[in-house]
Amino acid sequence: MSFAASVLTLYPEMFPGALGLSLAGRALEAGTWSLEAIQIRDFATDRHRTVDDTPAGGGAGMVMRADVLARAIDHASPPGDERPRLLMSPRGKPLTQARVRELAAGPGVVILCGRFEGVDQRVIDARGLEEVSVGDFILSGGEPAALVLLDAVVRLLPGVMGNAVSGEEESFENGLLEHPHYTRPQEFEGRPIPDVLISGNHKKIAEWRRAEAEKLTRERRPDLLGGTPQLLVK
Ligand code: SAH
Repeated sequence: MSFAASVLTLYPEMFPGALGLSLAGRALEAGTWSLEAIQIRDFATDRHRTVDDTPAGGGAGMVMRADVLARAIDHASPPGDERPRLLMSPRGKPLTQARVRELAAGPGVVILCGRFEGVDQRVIDARGLEEVSVGDFILSGGEPAALVLLDAVVRLLPGVMGNAVSGEEESFENGLLEHPHYTRPQEFEGRPIPDVLISGNHKKIAEWRRAEAEKLTRERRPDLLGGTPQLLVK
């Protein structure tokens, strides 16, 4: 069974977007995964097909209505659908490679993309939505975040990446950032490729890469090594 993604959005035209090209696009064509973009507005019931309203308690912006979203979710994910239901949200748990791997091993995902100020809390609670963040910044909508998540998941599906090994040596897979890469030319603007990489000594090369990965991780992301997150140091 292929990985099935259903995305609930006010902008279905944004899908598959970048995921229609390259590795993900070929896998989509091959049927390794499927993508259904569902227009939330189709589940509004009034003449103007309203999906949002002013925030209870006042304040700027608009909030997506719980009743409209619940109908859209129930349509995309009827009882018995085993797929996790995600809400892209800056308040969510930051997405990790570990969670991406879990999702890729499952039957698929249902993803709700927020817009405006966000969604009515009651639909999050009533439909058990898992809030997922792609980073500590604010996007104008959940769609780019959904594309990011799906890209990360799809590349892990069986057969999608030509060279399966490359997936396992990537940053985060072993708790470290990846070592630097080099390729021809041998010298670029006076900068040579480190000698060890052209030594042909595979043991030495592996040791060098490991040491570089550890150094980079210590410098840039001590939090990955159990140290204090950068964010808290500043
Ligand atoms: N008022 C909200 C931000 C709303 S941004 C707040 O301050 O928390 C509009 C929508 O964009 C959100 O509902 C969410 O779906 C999406 N979004 C914005 N930033 C995101 C992020 N970092 N990760 C995932 N989704 C995000």
